[in-house]
Order: sequence, then C-alpha cells, then structure tokens
Amino acid sequence: MTGTSPIRPVQYWNGTPVPFITAWTKEPTPPQSLAVIEGRGGPGLGFRDEVSHIDRHYGIPWVRMPVTRGGRPDFVVVNGLRQRQAMSRLLCQVCGGPTVGTRPDDRTLFLAGSSGGRPITAGERTMSPPVHAVCARLAVQECPPLRDHGWAAALVGYTPVWGVAGPIFHPHTLEQLTNDLCRVPFSDTRRIRWVLATRLVITLEDVTPVTDLDALADEETEAIRASSRPVSGSDADRAGHGQTTSADPSARARR
Ligand SMILES: [Zn+2]
Repeated sequence: MTGTSPIRPVQYWNGTPVPFITAWTKEPTPPQSLAVIEGRGGPGLGFRDEVSHIDRHYGIPWVRMPVTRGGRPDFVVVNGLRQRQAMSRLLCQVCGGPTVGTRPDDRTLFLAGSSGGRPITAGERTMSPPVHAVCARLAVQECPPLRDHGWAAALVGYTPVWGVAGPIFHPHTLEQLTNDLCRVPFSDTRRIRWVLATRLVITLEDVTPVTDLDALADEETEAIRASSRPVSGSDADRAGHGQTTSADPSARARR
C-alpha cells in the first residue's frame, strides 16, 4: 500500500486484525473534569478547563481520552475520538482510510452485525462508521461476532448526522443519570445540553442492501485503480492502490 492509497494497512495484534476504532488498554478513559458552564442559550455541561475547539464537537462536549493505540486491543470497546473522526470524515472503521472516492457512484458501504439476517434499512441510525469493501470482507472473515452470528451490508447514498451517544448528567449535581451510550438527537435541545458525547450517530439514507462483498471489493479495486495516477513500484496493482480524487469527505457527514 502506498501513502496515497485510500486503503491503509490494517493494524494486527497477535495475528488478529484490529479495527481502527477499537480501543486499546493504553487508552483508558480518565476522570472527566466536568462542570456547568454558561454557553449560548443557557447553562450546560462542559469542562472546568474547557478549550472549546478541542473539547467541543458539533457543539457538544466530547469525552477526553488518549489516542495512542498501545498495549492490547479491547475488541468490545470503541475509542470515542477515533469513532468521531471516522464517522465525521467517513473513514473506514477497519483501516482508517477515506471511503469517499472509492466507488464510481460515490456511495458508501456500511456493515453491521445481523444475527437474524435483518438487512440495513433506510432511516436506520448507526454509531458504526463505514468500511471499504475489501476491509468489510476481511472483517466478516476475522471478526468473531460477524463471522459467527451473521452480518448485513448496504451501500448508502446519504449520511446526515443525527446526534450523539453518551452519558447524561444531572444539571445541578452532575450525577451521571444514564448509561454511557444513551442516544440523544441534536433536535433534543434540552437533553443535548447535558450529555458527554462518546459517539457520533448518523442516519443512513438511500440504502441498497449488499450481499456479495467479493463483487463489491472487485468493483472498488477497479474504481480506485481508475482514479489513481500512475504509481511506480512492484505492488502498484494490489487491491486498494490508487489516489482518491474525492472532494472534502468531511462535508458528506455534515450534510
Ligand atoms: Zn478500509
């Protein structure tokens, strides 16, 4: 893989691929220095020493945690900062590379666990960032829940942000009132003021279910090759090589 390929090398640990958004043991969530702060429209949750352009995203205070990818991966935990980064920029949740510009129709692939064979449907909300087709194929082969209990995939044309997930705190005592993944839409102007975001949540619209990931991976490889500039080097014809010609990918999740 080259530095210009939208498909990045997947990180491995003890022979197992580790998704980009997976949390590592050297990324523990420290105590959060929460405070009630006066913002536009009244009081709300914030940090005592808040630096808004670092701590606030989409206007919401975001959990503080390290981003080091060190120690051991904890496959059942997601790093809330990499999740936001991947979701807002439509980066692949497996390799961390951009998914925008990897298909001729400019749609984006999403993958979900589906124990009952339930397809992904339009209007569904998700905290799971998109995937490249070749990365999805790797995931369904290597990720035990997907491999053992089934999966669903879909090409998605439109991914508006819906809200965040995170614990909600009491406006006066700052006692944590809910679990860590309470979903709150941006339209809920009351509760959104008291949530500490740990995930960005989007809505999937213009959804077409996908069952043949192999065909999709071949299509993706061809699209990337077609959009790439000539690349020198012996491995230039590998799947995923090329240079995306997409516009700013962050714009899509914000539409
Ligand atoms: Zn990928």
